[in-house]
Amino acid sequence: MKKPLMRIPYTDILPAPNIIPHTARSLPGAIAALQEFLHAPSPRDLPRSTVVLTGAGLSVASGLADYRGPNGTYRVNKTYRPIYYHEFLTSHEARKRYWARSFLGWTTLRNAQPNPGHYAVRDLGRLGLVSAVVTQNVDSFHPRAHPDIPTLELHGYLRSTVCTSCRTEMPRDGFQAELARLNPVWDAFLQEALATGALETEDPHERRARGFRVNPDGDVELPQAPYTTFRYPACPKCLSDPPLLADGSRAAVEVDNDGAWSPTSKAGILKPAVVMFGESIADGVKKAAEEAIDGAGKLLVLATSMATYSAWRLAKRAKDRGMPVAIVNIGGVRGEEAFFAGLDPDQTGAQGVRLEMSTETLLPALVRELRQQPILQNAEPSSAEAASFLENDAAVFKNMLQ
Ligand SMILES: [Zn+2]
Repeated sequence: MKKPLMRIPYTDILPAPNIIPHTARSLPGAIAALQEFLHAPSPRDLPRSTVVLTGAGLSVASGLADYRGPNGTYRVNKTYRPIYYHEFLTSHEARKRYWARSFLGWTTLRNAQPNPGHYAVRDLGRLGLVSAVVTQNVDSFHPRAHPDIPTLELHGYLRSTVCTSCRTEMPRDGFQAELARLNPVWDAFLQEALATGALETEDPHERRARGFRVNPDGDVELPQAPYTTFRYPACPKCLSDPPLLADGSRAAVEVDNDGAWSPTSKAGILKPAVVMFGESIADGVKKAAEEAIDGAGKLLVLATSMATYSAWRLAKRAKDRGMPVAIVNIGGVRGEEAFFAGLDPDQTGAQGVRLEMSTETLLPALVRELRQQPILQNAEPSSAEAASFLENDAAVFKNMLQ
């Protein structure tokens, strides 16, 4: 029987890493090691290109918090507990609380921009070195920064809502306007917070000093707000055409006078188009992520501790296929010894790299160095491979983005 792949939070702080090779503690040493990693031929008959796997740390420089970094959610807010899928599906109260916090957090997330780390990934693609990206991030920065490189969003994306009954997706921006209309008092509060800059500042310290916290899921911490007053709309499709229940009868989908979802309803509940904690990743997404790994010969892991099993198993898959692995992350990575066991102690990057540096500094510096090289020996086959990968597999990824 196929086991569902569920997204589960893992809140422990992991032990600090061993840097590999040991010359990679300095920025020039780290760049040299990554250059060698990217340029080295892949072992055996594996494809030459590199697939990138990213996590929340990559978006810290865009003003979002990560989970385990120095200012990460699990460090700054010890009581933080993300909402679980089951709770969201079954509790009207939990949904009010979730959407109220999400309503306040959305504008900040919407205004945040990809940072130099994301654009460096784009440039590695243009240099023919990176063929695909698998990200755990739900902030859409990868597809925005490099629409030409296929991006698989393992945990979905906040830019859309999806109906839990009919699976219809709708843009989050339109949903935000509906939340504002249904919750004028909250909207006034939000406008005031935006006007004072409490939500717009890109400095998380300053934002926190003003009493706001935004975590990686775009959720604002506002402990005193009366969530019980918050209203959210029903799925318009289910409202006009109620879905059938398992027994063949029509589900009740009811709204109040203003169009807010009524707890007498049995369907038409909208959720963010992300894989919530405790929710299973769709088989198609799981398969596409595995194909992205299998389509490359090396794995570059950026800014994630891979504490979530769905990400860790992809790295494990890469390792089991004999792919060299490079990991750039501040702080430890779940079970990282497994990725570097048996490396030649004298190797300088071709077999594996482990760096502890911020991606927004390291990656642009790496790209600058790569561009200074006269002609990349490997550029031609890699570009051709990337092109063929795009031709064959772009549709798979595009489907994920709709
Ligand atoms: Zn619906």
